[in-house]
Amino acid sequence: MNDEKFVEVKNLKKVYDNGHEAIKNVSFSVKKGDLVCLLGPSGCGKTTILNMLAGLLNPTSGDILFDGKSVVNTEPKDRQIGYVFQNYALYPHMTVLQNVMFPLTVGKHKIAKDKAKAIAEKYMKTTQIMELADQKPGQLSGGQQQRVAIARALVQQPKILLMDEPLSNLDARLRLKIREEIRSLVKEVGITTLFVTHDQEEALSIGDKIILFNNGVIQQDDLGQNFYLEPNNYFVANFVGNPVIDNFKVKVADGKIKASDFEISVSDLDQNRFKRELKDGEYVLSVRPENILPNEDGHVSAHVDDVELIGRERILKFTHDGVQARSLVNLETPIKPNDDIKLKMRLDRVFIFTPEGERVY
Ligand code: ATP
Repeated sequence: MNDEKFVEVKNLKKVYDNGHEAIKNVSFSVKKGDLVCLLGPSGCGKTTILNMLAGLLNPTSGDILFDGKSVVNTEPKDRQIGYVFQNYALYPHMTVLQNVMFPLTVGKHKIAKDKAKAIAEKYMKTTQIMELADQKPGQLSGGQQQRVAIARALVQQPKILLMDEPLSNLDARLRLKIREEIRSLVKEVGITTLFVTHDQEEALSIGDKIILFNNGVIQQDDLGQNFYLEPNNYFVANFVGNPVIDNFKVKVADGKIKASDFEISVSDLDQNRFKRELKDGEYVLSVRPENILPNEDGHVSAHVDDVELIGRERILKFTHDGVQARSLVNLETPIKPNDDIKLKMRLDRVFIFTPEGERVY
């Protein structure tokens, strides 16, 4: 038993036949029973990793262990994995019941029809699709097809569930509902789950932890809140957060951090937050819109270009040094477009990055 590292990926690399290095020396682990989100922009290598875990793709080098045992030489069908694909991949000519039973009625783990039906029905109850048993996939909504695909992935009682962008074919409202359902379902079944998404809000809402990738490299492997509060680098700070973080070009010299129209003393920053010494030079100072707010004593002057309503809050949009920035304020703000205002940053919540994206503060 190896519950802390139930799934372990060590120095995994994948170079495709055309020479493209899609995964570059990736290592991570997943705790038994956790729902972990693999997050990242299109093309960062999320599906490549899932396919290597499932055994549909061979790694170029590195190792994959399930419950402490290497599976790189294990056939896909013997890896005890359930896979839910983005397009669900249901059999159109079969009914829902037949689809869900299917994995139990083929291959070397084949079991008797009546027994298969009983197991299928158990998971159809869990996924609330019993009343759809006799329908064909073409007659179902996206959300219903999704549940059939999940039930079919669960019938073999796999040790690990892999889900590749399972919500991308659903409309926004249904996506919110189904993601909560997926989380409570996998927690009820207790199955260790890797869930691929490019949607940071989805990852933050359902993941026990998140592994964020870019260009085949892990950028951060952490609890959701740390992507907000302690991003590892510029990419992470900009990928996570809605509205997106504000970035200001600054120069550090003589103990001051200078932007085109504001200045901060280095001594005013929280000295415990420095990752390393802030040498003179050019940097990017970043602050989340909720941490730069209207304040008469503020150090940033802003001309409000636009005010956007986003439900319970408003975004004040302003241009600084030719770049758009945002301040997230409450709904009742009296501030209007074309107002000239002052904004104050929470200096214990700003980040400073080198031009290469390395975090200094
Ligand atoms: P998306 O969210 O768009 O599905 P992803 O993060 O899942 O993206 P992958 O599908 O894993 O990304 O692809 C990673 C990289 O590898 C991409 O640059 C892709 O173009 C490339 N790639 C994927 N499959 C192959 C292949 N068979 N041959 C060559 N390159 C490939």
